[in-house]
Amino acid sequence: MSQKVNISITKTAKSRLAETDFDNLPFGKTFSDHMFMADYSDGEWKNFQILPYGEIGISPAISALHYGQSFFEGIKAYKHADGKVAIFRPDKNGERFNLSAQRLCMPELPVEIFLQSIATLVDLDRDWVPGKENHSLYIRPFMFATDPYLGVNPSGSYKYMVLTGPVGPYFSKNLKVKIETHYSRACDGGFGFAKAAGNYGGSMLPSLKATQEGFDQLIWTDSREHAYIEELGAANVMFLMDGTLVTPSTRDTILKGVTRDTVLTLAKKWNVNIEERRISVDEIITGIKEGRITDAFGVGTAATIAHIAEIGHQGELYTLPDPAKRVFSNKVLNTLNDLRYGRSADEFGWNYPVGK
Ligand SMILES: *Cc1c(COP(=O)(O)O)cnc(C)c1O
Repeated sequence: MSQKVNISITKTAKSRLAETDFDNLPFGKTFSDHMFMADYSDGEWKNFQILPYGEIGISPAISALHYGQSFFEGIKAYKHADGKVAIFRPDKNGERFNLSAQRLCMPELPVEIFLQSIATLVDLDRDWVPGKENHSLYIRPFMFATDPYLGVNPSGSYKYMVLTGPVGPYFSKNLKVKIETHYSRACDGGFGFAKAAGNYGGSMLPSLKATQEGFDQLIWTDSREHAYIEELGAANVMFLMDGTLVTPSTRDTILKGVTRDTVLTLAKKWNVNIEERRISVDEIITGIKEGRITDAFGVGTAATIAHIAEIGHQGELYTLPDPAKRVFSNKVLNTLNDLRYGRSADEFGWNYPVGK
């Protein structure tokens, strides 16, 4: 049964497109002309609408603000060489949207409505999708609790919204990262696997401290012993060790990235040996010292493929092989770009075309 809903569309009276500088797009600061909004109350989703991007009125008592019933997704749309626009694997984000919703006692949104809302919005603002290499339209779906009630209970009402905006490269350089052995991003039994707003609020102080120490990012470790590698900031992390692609197996402290799945699928196709397992910090440090780690990188929608150039651990700095000469991660990056910009056959059906 098709679950297509009616979306009321109010177009902006004046587009901001002409005054937008597409050569200067710091991440997350530029928004397209329109946004999507829907309401949940009395057990159902309603009021599906697209309206000009702008402020919304909310009560200062909404439980999202006080207790963090709020989560998001991150997706990208690309302009293909032939001018067509396609969103990369949004169905996976739709599934994860509902995993986050479940964990935070929030209502699920049928994946079909998720896809329809995003595709309709992106189609309306398709002129905002940049055409340049390493540029894309970032899509930010999110949901938050709107009951004006200070009781610590699941809200009865929610808003689902989608914002979009053109973005350039997220990291413009190779990363110097620190293995974090004091703070934790997520704990066993917690909600690290959900894209919950609170996970990111809690990560800001440790990240700021690492920045003050001269690092670009953190590698999170397990909260019990700080002995096992978990993630790289808000990206999953991968290493090439003795020619095998190793990445932490997913668990409740680790976000199951779509890009992670994409890279593993490509590696499988290329007959690369893959290990998804616990990876100890010791094994990484020893591996670097012995020259057995030839590649290390973060994978995520925002970051794409982010090379790790240096790793700091307990006051020591370890240098990895020159990122420009790394074979695997550069092959992944090029293959991924060819797929996302429609320059190669979409053999896995990952591109979700929008409009005509
Ligand atoms: C979003 C995110 C990722 C990457 O997921 P993708 O689906 O590849 O974008 C990894 N880790 C964390 C903590 C994240 O928030």
